[in-house]
Amino acid sequence: MTKRIAVIGAGPSGLAVLRAFESARAKGTEVPEVVCYEKQENWGGLWNYTWRTGLDEFGEPVHGSMYRYLWSNGPKECLEFADYSFEEHFGRPIPSYPPRAVLHDYIAGRVEKSGVRKYCKFNHAVRDVEWDAETEKFTVQVKDLVAKKHLSEEFDYVFVCNGHFSTPNVPVFEGVEKFLGRVLHAHDFRCADEFAGKHVLLIGSSYSAEDIATQCHKYGAKQITFSYRTKPMGFEWPESFSERPLLTKVVGKTCYFKDGSTAENVDAIIFCTGYLNHYPFLPDDLRLETRNRLFPPNLYKGIFWEPNPRLMYIGAQDQFYTFNMFDAQAWYARDVVLGRIALPDQTAMHADSESWVRREEALEDAEQMIDFQTDYVRELIEATDYPRLDVDEVARLFKEWEHHKVEGILTYRNRSYPSTLTGTVAPVHHTPWMEALDDSLEAFLNQPSQQAAE
Ligand SMILES: Cc1cc2nc3c(=O)[nH]c(=O)nc-3n(C[C@H](O)[C@H](O)[C@H](O)COP(=O)(O)OP(=O)(O)OC[C@H]3O[C@@H](n4cnc5c(N)ncnc54)[C@H](O)[C@@H]3O)c2cc1C
Repeated sequence: MTKRIAVIGAGPSGLAVLRAFESARAKGTEVPEVVCYEKQENWGGLWNYTWRTGLDEFGEPVHGSMYRYLWSNGPKECLEFADYSFEEHFGRPIPSYPPRAVLHDYIAGRVEKSGVRKYCKFNHAVRDVEWDAETEKFTVQVKDLVAKKHLSEEFDYVFVCNGHFSTPNVPVFEGVEKFLGRVLHAHDFRCADEFAGKHVLLIGSSYSAEDIATQCHKYGAKQITFSYRTKPMGFEWPESFSERPLLTKVVGKTCYFKDGSTAENVDAIIFCTGYLNHYPFLPDDLRLETRNRLFPPNLYKGIFWEPNPRLMYIGAQDQFYTFNMFDAQAWYARDVVLGRIALPDQTAMHADSESWVRREEALEDAEQMIDFQTDYVRELIEATDYPRLDVDEVARLFKEWEHHKVEGILTYRNRSYPSTLTGTVAPVHHTPWMEALDDSLEAFLNQPSQQAAE
């Protein structure tokens, strides 16, 4: 009987799985039946923007954490799919840092082209997954949100692709409940112009804090204060920015920090305190328990749930690499399902993943982390027929990007990089990022000059 695969989520990770099986099918291989359940009305995951926060129209928690004016925070050349270049999609080279709508168009274009939409069931939320050791089947319980019906189906394999930047991590600080201003987590941040003329305190020192703060500045915030737990980000910020140690308490509109300093007249506090890997539909014995890290424990090859490797996680780790890493994982997992790659026994799998975990724990800086994830992606790609991806060049671009951020946190998005697939250097965008207030696909692609960067 044909084997069956359930894919939970049609974001970039789930779509990578659909694409991997389709690629094998197109080459004449008999592949299992694939069903992808997606709780939103369309694919694209976080890139499928919603203005909603809190609950959606069905009363489900809103998945989206992306905001209205989000632009790629890394060069697109680092995330390019090895089997679908930006040039192929847009018919010409485009600048290196596209806004959200442009990246969504690229992600969707690739899967439209390969005809995998027919495997997706939209507005279907997975509620529960159970494994029966006797029948060796998973039972997956799903709610059809439109028909308001519950379904139950059996599968031989389950891919967990629900993303892990959606469930907020929110620490407690004294007095926040009485703060005389707006309090929100980055998950609910949507529109930077809401904070024009305001003093915004951002708690956190990672990508969200850095990017939401620069967005707010771009759209007219009066003052930005950051509060960090371990160390400041240390960029050369504009004059209206300052970095303080951890918040200790809030009184009225005044925020107090660990070094005894204060920030007065704060209008809004944004918790940029990260997200939780959250798998509410999985029982304890199948559920990955991890913080956001480059190599979560108990996942062989960063994918296979070691106690039961028929359950696979795609994109569960912290990410320098994104779309092409999800592809590398999906191609590898596909080849295991197809019997092309054999898994070792559980002890050997665990010994292998532990060696990665230990290596991760010894990493000291961003460059070492980039090299770590590069080695990881390389190992996966080398084992399959995923098209050649020059990961050493991708790593070089990531490191250049890190340097460009240090040189100018408000200007790094004006830079251009070469595609590792086509070699074409991206054209310079028609408008410097700080002045590009219209982030629509039309405005971005209306590129009068095709001048290549030097
Ligand atoms: C604010 C922000 C900015 C980012 N910017 C960048 C960037 O510039 N460049 C970059 O490369 N990456 C960026 N990322 C990283 C991002 O994680 C990846 O680009 C990518 O979206 C991850 O894909 P995914 O499929 O793993 O998860 P997601 O994109 O989160 O998709 C998961 C999907 O699973 C669905 N789902 C969840 N639960 C269920 C359920 N129970 N049943 C059915 N479906 C379910 C969701 O609706 C969603 O569609 C950013 C992330 C955030 C939060």
